[in-house]
Amino acid sequence: MTVEEGRVDCCIVGCGPAGAILGLILARAGIDVTVLEKHQDFFRDFRGDAIHPPTLGVLEELGLIDRYLELPLQRDLAIKIVTNDGVLPLTDFANPKAKYPYVTYVPQWDFLNLLTEEAKRYPNFRLLMQAEGVDLLSDEGAICGVRYQTPDGLRDLTAPLTVAADGRRSRMRTCAGLVPKDFGAPMDLLWFRISRLPTDPKETFVRLVPGYVFAMVQRGSYWQVGYVVPKGTYQKLRVHDVGALRTILRHALPFLGSRVDELQSWDLVGFLEVQVNRLTKWHRPGFLCIGDSAHASSPVAGFGVNMAVHDAVAAANAVAGPLLRGRVTERDLARVKRRRQLPTILTQAVQRLVQRDIVEVPDLLDPERLAALPTTLDFDNEVDLPLPVATRLFRRLTGRVITAGLRSEHIRV
Ligand SMILES: Cc1cc2nc3c(=O)[nH]c(=O)nc-3n(C[C@H](O)[C@H](O)[C@H](O)COP(=O)(O)OP(=O)(O)OC[C@H]3O[C@@H](n4cnc5c(N)ncnc54)[C@H](O)[C@@H]3O)c2cc1C
Repeated sequence: MTVEEGRVDCCIVGCGPAGAILGLILARAGIDVTVLEKHQDFFRDFRGDAIHPPTLGVLEELGLIDRYLELPLQRDLAIKIVTNDGVLPLTDFANPKAKYPYVTYVPQWDFLNLLTEEAKRYPNFRLLMQAEGVDLLSDEGAICGVRYQTPDGLRDLTAPLTVAADGRRSRMRTCAGLVPKDFGAPMDLLWFRISRLPTDPKETFVRLVPGYVFAMVQRGSYWQVGYVVPKGTYQKLRVHDVGALRTILRHALPFLGSRVDELQSWDLVGFLEVQVNRLTKWHRPGFLCIGDSAHASSPVAGFGVNMAVHDAVAAANAVAGPLLRGRVTERDLARVKRRRQLPTILTQAVQRLVQRDIVEVPDLLDPERLAALPTTLDFDNEVDLPLPVATRLFRRLTGRVITAGLRSEHIRV
């Protein structure tokens, strides 16, 4: 049995970065908005947490930048690759025109708590936790709300606009009959934590050697480690106990020493099946997909959260006025995809290009291969690629793209 929950102007399913930003902007604009989130809190480790300068610009427009910069975050002026020979700075964010010439890394739960705390200041904003969208409601061919599951049973919420911000496995997208085009991805990601010592490197870096690619996100007292493995590798590693992973870590990241023993079970290792896909149509009457539900991206260069945030800003700009006037048309909704399609295609194209170079190694546990890795890493020695001029150009270009964004959205409501 379902219970009628009433009517709002906009119902958003999913409170990740896309849903939280959209909910906040619409609430500020005076729109009656409810966000449904299936979990009971935001405390999940295995999420994207790179926030790029254009997203910092959005936080500034929301009046949240000072509070954001007070969070326990890390600022990086460059993306650094640690090879067997030393450190190769791959990007340089020192863009004189950028107000925030750095990338920050913050646990996603802190980011979401900040956004939702701010949104809760508006009486027309409601966040329902442990509320899982299970179906869409429709009326004469148009979607007019959502049915959701709570610990107390099923509820119905009707709205002239329902937004799917429920991530890469979007159930709402499926309910709307929208199917993304899949581009495949040659890799997957294993996520885990290892404690960090004051003597460890100070900054986030990428450890790169064929077959062993680690994103080492510095989170103060611990490293959030992302191990990029060719597809199928995880399943092969899981045949062994977690000691196999410890062996790889001990050789590829020797400074961790006995701390690799903290990984005592595969339960401590999260698995992300990397997907690259996107919808050709992002909307139906009364319904819109944004963020990962419209396009799942690879973790390469940490664009996921930023694309979700900018989709949300574009969506708010497109629908706030029509919602306040009481009617959102398909034309309004189509504007969101028109605005966000190009940056999505370009970002995914670059990611797919980089991913092509993920090297498959026949046996990651081959003792000879592991023994060939250096027993210490030199974090003080800066190295260059064979073509130093081209490297510097590439470094500056990629830095500019990340600091300026491919198409930055600004809040206009
Ligand atoms: C394990 C993992 C690691 C990642 N690593 C990186 C990285 O290194 N770099 C990077 O750029 N990106 C990474 N990402 C991707 C990045 O986190 C996403 O691109 C970004 O968070 C997308 O935001 P979103 O709001 O669209 O979706 P999400 O962040 O996925 O948020 C969706 C929200 O909807 C909720 N939800 C889902 N279904 C329902 C439902 N039916 N009803 C109600 N609520 C629902 C979920 O609980 C979640 O809170 C990673 C993602 C994962 C899962």
